[in-house]
Amino acid sequence: MKSSIVVLPGDGIGPEVVTEAQAVLSRTAELFGHEISYESFPIGGCAIDEFGEALPGETLSACRSADAILLGAVGGPRWDDPQAKVRPEQGLLKLRKELGLFANLRPIKPHPALLESSPLKREYIEGTDVLFFRELTGGIYFGESGVTGAGADETAHNVMIYSAGEVERIVRMAAEAARNRRGKLTSVDKANVLEVSRLWRRVAERVVREEFSDLEYEVVLVDAMAMHLISRPSTFDVVVTGNMFGDILTDEGSMLPGSLGLLPSASLGDPGPGLYEPIHGSAPDIAGQDAANPLATILAGAMLLRHSLGLEREATAVEQAVAEVLDAGHRTRDLARQGEDSIGTREMGRLVVDALTAD
Ligand code: NAD
Repeated sequence: MKSSIVVLPGDGIGPEVVTEAQAVLSRTAELFGHEISYESFPIGGCAIDEFGEALPGETLSACRSADAILLGAVGGPRWDDPQAKVRPEQGLLKLRKELGLFANLRPIKPHPALLESSPLKREYIEGTDVLFFRELTGGIYFGESGVTGAGADETAHNVMIYSAGEVERIVRMAAEAARNRRGKLTSVDKANVLEVSRLWRRVAERVVREEFSDLEYEVVLVDAMAMHLISRPSTFDVVVTGNMFGDILTDEGSMLPGSLGLLPSASLGDPGPGLYEPIHGSAPDIAGQDAANPLATILAGAMLLRHSLGLEREATAVEQAVAEVLDAGHRTRDLARQGEDSIGTREMGRLVVDALTAD
């Protein structure tokens, strides 16, 4: 198979972690007999410095015609002036919007060897393997907003809005994923209070009833979900929810494995290329020190193989190589416990490359 990947290293530790993920993808392609070509483009702060905009036209058009996009991170103190007209994160938001990336996938699966790194007790998180589908281009973040009046009468509003079509496509995507996993789908809403959630619930139930009746399906209110995610995370398989609820719940969920440096995410549209990235930012405090954990970006590469290139065996091979390296006790600084030795970004990348096999 031949594929072309656009690489957007970005700022801070972005280039460091993307280099390692690219090395892992290249070795995987070599082992399984595929051909992957890469082209790198600027985004974020480095693009502002060079072109005066966070998402240059050339970067966007390259992304449109790629099979998939691998991103590091954007931003940093250099571009943090609140008065600035152009900001690094605008590049990322515009890219998601232009490519119609309406589904954000975030897997949360604490690694057995790192259970002690979690702020939760081992017995709560053991066996957790959740895949979140957060709707990314609708809901309250994209509804009409405004401020009127003054003084005590100053009033602000944000409109939460979803169409049946927007709910249908994300629920369908999540249900398909559940079918290929453990067959359970949880839809999260606030239907006891919000009209939008009542629409969400009706549409989700219809899609599941008509097209996915083989799935175990449940509906959970978002406030209850915030508790269940901590008290019984291992009971969930695929969770689908709207933009704001997903924003909050996925950040809550990201604490379960204990380190930001381990968590990948994918943003998908239909059709079009997917965008794969670690959930962490550009970590300017450790940039250029060979101290960043590249595993989140390497695991984003595994998601890219699975979701954009349809290469399940290859994705599993990458995930197994990461698991093997962690099982062997190798830790970057963010994962090492007090007194434990740690290794750098490049060494961690090399170990994963060496652990890859096509078996
Ligand atoms: P951050 O995720 O960059 O860093 C938070 C903390 O986690 C820091 O102490 C950092 O050193 C550590 N950390 C993050 N990733 C790590 C890794 N791979 N290995 C080891 N340690 C890691 O969040 P922040 O400090 O709030 O933001 C820094 C910059 O990143 C800001 O400019 C912010 O706007 C930007 N940001 C970008 C994205 C993105 O590109 N998607 C996401 C979040 C933040």
